[in-house]
Amino acid sequence: MVIKMEQGAGNPEITKICSFLSGYIKTFYHEDDPEKQLYGAINPGKDWTLINVIGYIPDKQHLNEQLSFFEGIEEVIIVSKYSLVNKEYTQGRPVKVGRDFPDGRVEVSLNGNEFAIIAGPCAVENESQIKAVAKFISGLGLKLMRGGAYKPRTYPSSFQGLRDKGIRLFRKVADKYRLLIVSEMTEVAQRDLFSQCVDLVQIGTRNMQNYELLKAAGQTGKPVLLKRGMMADIDEFLGAAEYILQEQARCGHEQQVILCLRGIRTFDNALMRNTPDLATIAALKQKKTGLPVIFDPSHSTGDRNLVVTASKQAAVGEANGVLVEIHPEPQKALVDGPQSLDFEQFLKLLQILNPLCELEKRVLT
Ligand code: PEP
Ligand code: MN
Repeated sequence: MVIKMEQGAGNPEITKICSFLSGYIKTFYHEDDPEKQLYGAINPGKDWTLINVIGYIPDKQHLNEQLSFFEGIEEVIIVSKYSLVNKEYTQGRPVKVGRDFPDGRVEVSLNGNEFAIIAGPCAVENESQIKAVAKFISGLGLKLMRGGAYKPRTYPSSFQGLRDKGIRLFRKVADKYRLLIVSEMTEVAQRDLFSQCVDLVQIGTRNMQNYELLKAAGQTGKPVLLKRGMMADIDEFLGAAEYILQEQARCGHEQQVILCLRGIRTFDNALMRNTPDLATIAALKQKKTGLPVIFDPSHSTGDRNLVVTASKQAAVGEANGVLVEIHPEPQKALVDGPQSLDFEQFLKLLQILNPLCELEKRVLT
């Protein structure tokens, strides 16, 4: 439910409505559990303020009637699927990934004129591998590095990642090179570790509909990179983003979600690991949401020879960045070697992306 305030409505009216909302469930349903109370997330827009009602509403008609007793409301919009992801609510709001290092803050802001390059290995394998990549990408002036420590693998016989040891190792190396890190969270129990060590919490394709995990990611207080489920439609994808945004709002954290398209599973896998959902970047932005959208050319194609082309398509196709797998020696990678670029190939990718981004008046970051 979204409450659209009248143009002249000010703080007193908004505060009254929000405090009514926070006591509504207790008053009418005699339910004390703080988790079950409603919460009004305020979006002060240019022309009017929106209040998004967060939480389960047992009877929307009843709440709507109650709201008619308040002043300053222009319209109550009953939304059935999602509201915080919607264009009206997210438009223009930047998503900031940042960290304070002893010698100052490093920050990347998506949604403006920046095109984010997030590069790194599929998996954190050992210290020398992570150091080599960190040194290389920080030497290029890039700020964001990827690397999985908890790896959700199709087969239990495959390398499962270095787990919490891997996260701590990744943080230690990233601190040395002043890098921001992205890593995948796979369990609710990892919440505090990720909150401490990781700068952008990734939710992988297999976990896009793990709703308890989505809420835990929202509780970390870190921005979240949400990958599209390989078999999820767009409503399901945005519903998952809404879970995270609502939890962030409820916890008093900034609402910070980056969407990541990474290819979907279709009937056709003769040429590529997945079917790259490239035109979806622009369609999402034009029709649905103002959240930043990045593209993963590595998992969507599964082929290093297609990574450059898919990245170019993403850059001219309205993406806010790319998430690219690179490895010092792809032939020795424990995971996803065939889709990883080596350093030389990655440099070529940057050379190709640079003029494209300039053309679109954006800077690589
Ligand atoms: C990854 O980026 O490390 C990953 C496992 O990707 P996905 O969840 O898209 O398969
Ligand atoms: Mn991978």
